[in-house]
Amino acid sequence: MSLPSSAELSALALETARRCGVDVDAIAGDVTTRSPINGGQVASLAWQGIADVDIAVERAEAAFREWRRVPAPARGALVKRFGELLVEHQDDLATLVSVEAGKITSEARGEIQEMVDICEFAVGLSRQLYGRTMPSERPGHRLMETWHPLGVVGVISAFNFPAAVWSWNTAVALVCGDPVIWKPSELTPLTSLACHAVLAQAIAEAGAPAALSQVLLGGPEVGEALVGHPGVALLSATGSTRMGRTVGPRVAERFGRSLLELGGNNAAVVTGSADLDLAVRGIVFSAAGTAGQRCTTMRRVIAHTSIVDELTDRLASAYDRLPIGDPMAAGTLVGPLINGRAYDALDAAISLATGEGGTLVAGGGRALEDVAPDAYYARPSIVRIEKQTEVVTRETFAPLLYVLPYDDFASAIDLNNAVPQGLSSSVFTSDNAEAELFLSAEGSDCGIVNVNIGTSGAEIGGAFGGEKETGGGRESGSDAWRAYMRRATNTINYSGELPLAQGVDFTV
Ligand code: NAD
Repeated sequence: MSLPSSAELSALALETARRCGVDVDAIAGDVTTRSPINGGQVASLAWQGIADVDIAVERAEAAFREWRRVPAPARGALVKRFGELLVEHQDDLATLVSVEAGKITSEARGEIQEMVDICEFAVGLSRQLYGRTMPSERPGHRLMETWHPLGVVGVISAFNFPAAVWSWNTAVALVCGDPVIWKPSELTPLTSLACHAVLAQAIAEAGAPAALSQVLLGGPEVGEALVGHPGVALLSATGSTRMGRTVGPRVAERFGRSLLELGGNNAAVVTGSADLDLAVRGIVFSAAGTAGQRCTTMRRVIAHTSIVDELTDRLASAYDRLPIGDPMAAGTLVGPLINGRAYDALDAAISLATGEGGTLVAGGGRALEDVAPDAYYARPSIVRIEKQTEVVTRETFAPLLYVLPYDDFASAIDLNNAVPQGLSSSVFTSDNAEAELFLSAEGSDCGIVNVNIGTSGAEIGGAFGGEKETGGGRESGSDAWRAYMRRATNTINYSGELPLAQGVDFTV
C-alpha cells in the first residue's frame, strides 16, 4: 500500500483551495499545517492574533446593523445561493476535508452534503421564524412574541467536522440575521478558508456586507479572545469537554449566550431479541467509521448476556476485514487518526482497560507504520470488559469500542447513563416495550436516542446536541434557530383603557 507524497497532497490542497476562491498567495505565513494522511507538510499559513479579533468584531457589528434590516426571506436567498455553490464545489471541499482531517472520500462528501442540506433547511426556515400569539387576560389587548436577529455569532469548531459544524451555525445564523466570525480548528485551516471563500462569493453576488462571514486562523488564544469579547452575542463552541469547561464560564461571566457541543461517550444497548446482522452493521459503522473520530462515535456496546459472546465474535471478525489506508483511495473504510497524540491516547486507553480486566479481542497497534512513520493509522480495536471501569467512562477519541455484558434491561439503561457525557445512544431490539422504555423519561438520558440504528450519522432536520458534559447545546434543525435570535414579548393595548394585569389597582 502506498500513500500520496507530501508534494502531491500539498499541490492538490492548494489547487483545490484556489478553485474554491482562496487567494493562496495572500494567506502564506509561517505556521505549518500537516495532513494526517502521511504526516507531511501541506502548507505554511499566516495566523491571526488577538488584536484581529477586535477588528473582526467591529466589522461584524457594522454588518449586523445592515443585515438585520434585510427581510428574512431575502436573507434566505443568499443562503440558497450558498447552497448552490456548495454543490458546485462539493468534490473540492471534500478533498480538503480528506487531506486535512483524513476522512474517507465518501464521508468527506457526506460532510459537504450535510452543508447543502442545512442550507436548504435554512432557506425554508427563513419564511418560518414564527412567533406565537397568546390570549391576553385583559380586554382589548394583544399579547405576542416576535423574534429578532441577535447579533454577532462566534463559531469555534473542532478538527473532525471541519466544514459542516460551521455551516450548521452559519446557514441558520445568516437567515436569522446574524453575521458569523469563525475560529476553526488549527488543524484544518485550508478547509475553513475554502468554505468561507465559497460563502464570500454568494455574499458578494447578493451585494450583502462582506463581513457577514469572517475567518480567524489561530490557536486557543484567538478562540479565547473571541469567547471573552462582549461584542459576540452568541458563542457556539464545538470541541472537547476540556475546552467547554473553559469557554462556558467565560461567556457566562459576561452574560453572553453560549451553545456548547462537546464530547460524547455513546453506547448501544443490544438486547437478546436484536437482529444481530443489523446490529453488527450499525455498530461497525458507528464505532470504526471516521476512524472513531466523531463526537457521536459508538464507544460502548452493552449487550445482553445471551448474545454478548456471539456479538463480540461477529464484531471482531468484521473489524478484521476493515480496509485501513489512504482515505482518498477507493475501497478504504478507515483512514488515519489526526495525529500521534490521538494514537497515544488510544494505546494508553487499551493498556488501562486490559489492566482493569478487559481483553483485547480485535485490533491494537498501528497499520502502515512502515510506509508512513509520521502518520497514525490505528487498527480499530475492541475490548471486552465485564465492568464499566473508569477508562470506559472517558471519551477516548479513537476507534476503541468496549463491549460490556448486562443481565436485565434496567441495568443496561443504568450503564448507558452512568457516564459524564450525554450525547448519543441507541438500542437494538425487536421488543417494542424495550424500545419505548429506552426512549422514555426513564430511559437514555442523552440528547440523541435511536432505535435499531447506530449512534452516529445524524440528519440535519433534528436538533443536534447532548446533555451533561456534552454541554446542553442544540444546533442544526428543529427549533435550534431560536438560539440565534432574541425574543421580544409584546403587549399591545387597543382598548382605550388601562387595565393592569393580575387585577392590580393603581388609580391615582
Ligand atoms: P479541541 O477542544 O481540542 O478544539 C476545538 C476547538 O476549540 C479548536 O478550534 C481549538 O482551537 C479551540 N479551543 C481549544 N481551547 C480553547 C479555549 N480555551 N478557548 C477557546 N477556544 C479553544 O477539540 P478537537 O480535538 O478539535 O475535537 C475533538 C473533540 O470535539 C472531541 O471531544 C469531540 O467529541 C468533540 N466534538 C463534539 C461535537 C459535538 O457536536 N458535540 C462535534 C465534533 C467534535
